[in-house]
Amino acid sequence: MDFLYDNSMGCLFCIKTFKTKKPRLSRLPVRARDTDFYLRYEYVNPYVYEAVVCPHCAMAFTDKFAPLSDRSRAILQDSYIKQAQQEDFSGPRSLEQGIRSLKLALICASLISESPPVFTGLCMRIAWLNRELGNQAEELQFLKRAYDAYAYIYSEVRFDEFKISESNLLHMLAELSCRLNEPDRARKWFGSLFMLNDQDYRFLNEARDRWLDYKETLKK
Ligand SMILES: [Zn+2]
Repeated sequence: MDFLYDNSMGCLFCIKTFKTKKPRLSRLPVRARDTDFYLRYEYVNPYVYEAVVCPHCAMAFTDKFAPLSDRSRAILQDSYIKQAQQEDFSGPRSLEQGIRSLKLALICASLISESPPVFTGLCMRIAWLNRELGNQAEELQFLKRAYDAYAYIYSEVRFDEFKISESNLLHMLAELSCRLNEPDRARKWFGSLFMLNDQDYRFLNEARDRWLDYKETLKK
């Protein structure tokens, strides 16, 4: 079965069209879900294909990026496009190529100050692909960057604007505190999460179990 297909894309920067591989998600069963919402699919890792890289100008982006303003365009031109190397991402990608494409998208997102949820999404995906490769140091480095961005969103209290509920945000902060081995922070975030008593929050039992399991690991 063919799990990938050629998708025609228009570049966000140069507007030219190009082809890039896209996974057929409906054909990929989810095998498992990690506590930080990393979905492990059978056959193909779809996160490897989430960042597209334009073969004409090297602009790297995802479908979460907003249209570019003139100012963002000028910044990208000066600080990225001019010195970008030609790299081929058009075929099936390895985990390493997936990480590379996501890192290029992260550079572009940072330069144009894309929204914090775009930033956290890219950092989490880079961390997950490193988890697959067993690169723990780099996984933790990107989980930390995601944590800082989630903490920023929480401090700004712009949940609606960033389309994330307060409970899901607290869940991620608590979860990442466990993974980054920050017990005091984990206690604080789980505490706030349990206090919220949000009826729409679907992962309460899971979060309770996670906190108990993490507390157990601290005793060892
Ligand atoms: Zn382009």
